[in-house]
Amino acid sequence: MDIQLTLNPSTVNRECPFLLSLPVELLLPIASYLPIPTQISLALTCKCLMKVLFPENTLPRLSKEDRITFLSTLQKDIPGTYFCFCCHRLRRLIPDVDWNGHDHKWNIGYFKYPTWNINSGNNWHVPAPYYFSSFKDYFSVDFMDAYLVMNQHFLGSSHGLPLHILERYASFQDHIELHNCQHSSPFQGVTKEESQSPSGSDYRLYERKDDEPDRKETAWRLSFQMIPKIIHGKLYLGRFYTIVGPLMPWNCMARLISSCSPEICNHWRCLADARLVCPAQHGPMAHANSDSYISIVPRLYNMEGDFEPPKNYPEGGSCLFCDTDYEISLHQNKENKEWRFRLITYHCLGSCRSPKDKFWKSLVGNLGRRHDHIHFQLSTQCATARVWM
Ligand SMILES: [Zn+2]
Ligand SMILES: [Zn+2]
Ligand SMILES: [Zn+2]
Ligand SMILES: [Zn+2]
Ligand SMILES: [Zn+2]
Repeated sequence: MDIQLTLNPSTVNRECPFLLSLPVELLLPIASYLPIPTQISLALTCKCLMKVLFPENTLPRLSKEDRITFLSTLQKDIPGTYFCFCCHRLRRLIPDVDWNGHDHKWNIGYFKYPTWNINSGNNWHVPAPYYFSSFKDYFSVDFMDAYLVMNQHFLGSSHGLPLHILERYASFQDHIELHNCQHSSPFQGVTKEESQSPSGSDYRLYERKDDEPDRKETAWRLSFQMIPKIIHGKLYLGRFYTIVGPLMPWNCMARLISSCSPEICNHWRCLADARLVCPAQHGPMAHANSDSYISIVPRLYNMEGDFEPPKNYPEGGSCLFCDTDYEISLHQNKENKEWRFRLITYHCLGSCRSPKDKFWKSLVGNLGRRHDHIHFQLSTQCATARVWM
């Protein structure tokens, strides 16, 4: 790959570096120990060094990895630019506009997981609310947004985006019929297309908490908030997923939780006891994706139908695959006559210097296959949450 640069002549060769006082016979062997991207960076600091290091006056072709290293370094010296991981070029930064609003999107499949998206494909037991899938769109995080936020942190404001780009809020309310399980097979839910958009502005999707109307007495409100923080050079996300609605028998609430199956990370999600959710076809936890759940099960369940909600909440823990920490709380508030489920997760995304960073890879990567042993891979040590709070 050829790299073309236009250097401003006034900034070049103002002062030859001290290195040039060394004899060339010494300088060349020393420089040969440097990685190629560093040699090029060095040569670009002054014309004399360029002449010594690359007498032909042409820069060597770079491998993909070397090009990434070289351009990631070079971006520091060119204000208003960022290195783009999708096309491996320096591109012009549009200040204060998130990745979605930049001039191009991922078009090269070099990196496997450009987006963290834990929309796992829900197994609906009730008709899905109209706005649910749009609501879930707010959960996804593009690597380039996280990268550009950390670029600003490390390199200054002309090289990246402000932290608030990663703030999210989304909520909607809807009436959901929960009294029976209505799904016909574990693989076939009621899709969005079959449900109707509820009319009236009360039932829109809201992006600001201040704008949203009060919850109707018989409606359910789902809300999601994401708060980013940078601590010791690492990006952390706190995510708050809430389901609030009218007081109903526990099996109705269980049906809603299992249908939404709030995801903790790519490896875990919350499901209620299948015997309550689908009485007709229960087997213990007979679910399509039973490889990744955290059960919300009454501790003393009896088959005669004692529909008491689970005790011993809140509960929390940590995923050992991606260091996500979580807290689950479930309350039956008899005074306000409401159910309140809340899942809080804390994620560490590391310094986001490359989609190959171990933090990003473990967060977005799928386990791929069924891992029954995953049940034993939860820990009660919540290091990520402690740092975030
Ligand atoms: Zn700069
Ligand atoms: Zn690009
Ligand atoms: Zn069902
Ligand atoms: Zn089921
Ligand atoms: Zn995980």
